[in-house]
This record gives sequence, structure tokens and C-alpha cells, in this order.
Amino acid sequence: MQDSNVQNVLNEVYECAVSCDRLPDDIKILAVTKTQSVSHIIEALENGIKYIAESRVQEAEIKIPALVGKYEEFHFIGHLQSNKVKKLLSLNPVLIHSIDRYSIAQKLNFTITETEVKNKKPIDILIEVNSSGEKSKNGVLPSECSELIKRIEELEFVKVRGLMTIGALTEKEKIVRKCFKTLRELFEKEKRMYPDRMVYLSMGMSSDFKIAIEEGANIIRLGSCLFGSRD
Ligand SMILES: *Cc1c(COP(=O)(O)O)cnc(C)c1O
Repeated sequence: MQDSNVQNVLNEVYECAVSCDRLPDDIKILAVTKTQSVSHIIEALENGIKYIAESRVQEAEIKIPALVGKYEEFHFIGHLQSNKVKKLLSLNPVLIHSIDRYSIAQKLNFTITETEVKNKKPIDILIEVNSSGEKSKNGVLPSECSELIKRIEELEFVKVRGLMTIGALTEKEKIVRKCFKTLRELFEKEKRMYPDRMVYLSMGMSSDFKIAIEEGANIIRLGSCLFGSRD
């Protein structure tokens, strides 16, 4: 990783926000640190990155403890298996972006309920939506999103704070933009139901973050544009 990569990307995000009349500070930039070494991550943190995100619990459990105190927030963005919930919660994620089924929310709730600590804190989550309809993607269908939120709202220790998606895997801007529009519209609709709760719209990665910002993203998740391509 070159130092300038991080600075360049932070500048690009800034410029993009300004060019669509948005406040740059309203857009949270997560560095997606999967496959990156602790030393690479520290370098990024020293160059202006504040928030990091991992997509596999097995990987996070090795790196996150080595980074505590160096980052402001740790987010979890990958598919979560029920047997990894306890481990993940022990790493104190600020937000779990990738909840797409009731059973896993229930497991989070149950695991927190079971803990011995006095001040049990609810976990903030986002609902992952499959906005592209691609079969390979995780996430609920847009039509199933409201129902899932309604069910999760009944759980005492799980709080839905917004929505997340991965845009279609294509160079065609129109198609990618449509995914983000779909998510934005769902978000606006849910925000009318839960105005204080629904705050985060997590969309946009290295190849499409500018489109996502134009469509209202307030969390973007960047890996390869910061660290170089993963092999
Ligand atoms: C890997 C990953 C990213 C970052 O992807 P890049 O294309 O490298 O920016 C973002 N979100 C999720 C959920 C990921 O798994």
C-alpha cells in the first residue's frame, strides 16, 4: 500500500460529496481490511482511516485484538454464521451490516440475553438487501425487507439502524445505480416507520462508491482502492 492511496481516496470521497451537495463528514468511510496484514492496516490507520471492517469472524478474531486502541470503530460486514455469533460479539463490533434472516438476529438477541454482564447493550445491525437480484448474493429481497425489520423489532437486544447492499457486479452504471436507488427508496420508506432508528445506508465499494454517494450512501465500504487488489 502506498500512503498516497489512502489520501487520494479520502480526497475523492470529499470531492464527490461536495459535488453532489452533501457534507463530506456525513459519509463514513470504512476500510475493508479482509486479507490485509495487521501492519498494512496500521499504516492505513496512520494515514487517516478511522473505521475498519472485516467480513470473516475467523480472520477478525486474530487481527482485531492486535488493533484495539488504534481504530475508532470495528464493523462486521460478512455473512454471519450462528456458531460465530458469540465470538463476534466479544470483538465489540459497532455495527453488523449483514443480517438477512430472522434466525441470526434471534441468535444475537439470545447470546446477549445470556451474558453475565450487568449493563447488557443491544447490538446495532443493518439489514442486508439483495438489490440486484443476483442469485449469488446474500440478502433479503426488497419485498421481504419490511417484514424482517418488523420481526426483529420485537427482539430486546437487537436494533435495526438501517440497510446495506452490494451493488450489481457490472460495469454498467445504470444497473448499479438502480440497485442503490432501490435501497435508498426502501430506506426512506422504513425511515417513515422508524424515524429515529433508521440512520445508516451502507452501500458503495471501490468500483462504485461515487454512484453510491450520489444516491445517498452514508457509509461506504472500501477495500481494493485503499489497499490494492486482493489476490
Ligand atoms: C470485500 C468487501 C467490500 C470491499 O470491496 P472492494 O471492492 O475491495 O472495495 C465491501 N463490502 C463487502 C461486504 C465486502 O465483502
